[in-house]
Amino acid sequence: MSIHKTDIIVIGAGPAGLFTIFEAGMLKMKCHVVDTLDFIGGQCSALYPEKPIYDIPAHPQILAGDLIAKLEEQAKPFEATFHLSQRVEKVEKLADKNFRVTTSKNTIIEAKAIIIAAGCGAFGPNRPPISNIEEFEGKSVFYMVKSRHDFAGKKVVIAGGGDSAVDWAISLAEVADKISVIHRRDKFRCAPESADRLKQLANQGKVEMVVPYQLEGLQGENGHLKKVLVKDFSNNIKEIEADILLPFYGLAMELGPIAHWGLNLHKNLIDVNFTTMQTSEAGIYAIGDIAHYTNKLKLILSGFAEAATACHDAYKIVYPDTLFHFEYSTSKGVS
Ligand code: FAD
Repeated sequence: MSIHKTDIIVIGAGPAGLFTIFEAGMLKMKCHVVDTLDFIGGQCSALYPEKPIYDIPAHPQILAGDLIAKLEEQAKPFEATFHLSQRVEKVEKLADKNFRVTTSKNTIIEAKAIIIAAGCGAFGPNRPPISNIEEFEGKSVFYMVKSRHDFAGKKVVIAGGGDSAVDWAISLAEVADKISVIHRRDKFRCAPESADRLKQLANQGKVEMVVPYQLEGLQGENGHLKKVLVKDFSNNIKEIEADILLPFYGLAMELGPIAHWGLNLHKNLIDVNFTTMQTSEAGIYAIGDIAHYTNKLKLILSGFAEAATACHDAYKIVYPDTLFHFEYSTSKGVS
């Protein structure tokens, strides 16, 4: 059994986890990073890579995907080891006070500290209750859009009434052959400007509004969709020709195994002391969306500051015999 050894194990490769690599690196601490997804970037990559973010300091506007690429570049000199497509299942404290983490692929990592940057926990899409949907998943049913160009020239059916459904309908209307939006009500739970824009596109014939309808079934062969069946409240069935179905019914968020690591929790979040970001277990920190303290703002910029706070506190654990000497990055440089 091979065991990886490092200074800090980072659980989650979202923006908070990626910035942790940089902050830890500046303090000469090495990281191993684990993420359930097969790509880095957390929510930014999985949910809205092509959307502009407006509240990242010094970036009046930056696409979420570009932010992740920049965080990756900033972290690169510190050569973190990534273990993707695996979930951290178990966290144990060893007799020598180090921690041992075991993943769903049986990767074992030992470290002096752990920084949990697990966002909303293990997240996955809420799937529509359609019996044969699995047959189409990954071929013509997708719960995330990585690049809108994947849908160029396609007949796309979007199901849902929230921001993601509306924003993607607006965005994909520029590249798809046809967009149909299915929603069980004629009111959408999204930004008012987006609702207005969708209405405009519908009036221009660029988006077909299928309301009030609900998903009923899928027809196709070998995972390739031909028709989406929808049903109204009088059980009238309508058929929509489709190559692609994008159901946006929100995310199922669950702490998953994190709930069983003995940490103090606040609902689905981890309680921390916000002056150190330490959890109820010394040596285990939580930052980003998963961390809870009074007046916590679930924003990327909060996650960045929390990463710096957690790493500075963890330094004492990683280097117990070295007196910490604060230095700006301008003095230290990136080595
Ligand atoms: P996440 O990005 O959620 O990443 C956590 C990672 O941890 C995930 O990749 C997950 O797979 C992994 N993970 C979880 N559990 C485990 C486990 N047991 N083992 C291994 N890996 C695990 N914020 C802003 O500041 N400005 C905005 O404009 C903005 N717009 C947004 C728009 C949308 C549509 C959405 C959905 C969110 C938006 N946010 C915005 C919120 C922002 O994306 C989050 O605050 C941010 O992603 C949180 O970062 P994080 O690193 O804490 O967690």
